[in-house]
Amino acid sequence: MITNYVHEIVKGTGSLLAGMKVTIKAMFSRTHTVQWPRQYLVLPERFRGHIELVPAKTTGFPKCFACGNCARTCPSKCITVKGKKPEGAKKKSPTVFLLDFTKCSLCGLCVESCPVKAITFSKDYSLAGALKDDFSNMDLLSKLASPFSSHVKKEESDG
Ligand code: SF4
Ligand code: SF4
Repeated sequence: MITNYVHEIVKGTGSLLAGMKVTIKAMFSRTHTVQWPRQYLVLPERFRGHIELVPAKTTGFPKCFACGNCARTCPSKCITVKGKKPEGAKKKSPTVFLLDFTKCSLCGLCVESCPVKAITFSKDYSLAGALKDDFSNMDLLSKLASPFSSHVKKEESDG
């Protein structure tokens, strides 16, 4: 009777230690998860999030000069771009740059077709929204400074 009891204790302790071994090993091994949204994953260079505009290093304004090449090249017709020349500038700047991300296949043709590398893939992998409009009308200009901002503000204060 006592022999059985001792045998059960030894067996139970053995199985407890086997389980603890797995737990302790996992505690000190490399973690594969992050504490999102406080931490973000470091994504590989070739990751493709939605497209975004690239700012010029000197001004912070979009490098894009609204030639419309990307919009014409896009097989899904998801880019809308309009532009005009800021006062005294030689090239146009975009006044509207919208992406319909609900139709985008992330094919990359727009990125490849841009003559000045003014668009790239973002690393944004945690998009969320309650409305389809949040993604069908993404305003890519909203994240960058604009050469028209001062004009717009001036016009508003004049009006
Ligand atoms: S990645 Fe392809 S589908 Fe998406 S906007 Fe660019 S050209 Fe269009
Ligand atoms: S992003 Fe490039 S291809 Fe598209 S309108 Fe601007 S300059 Fe032209």
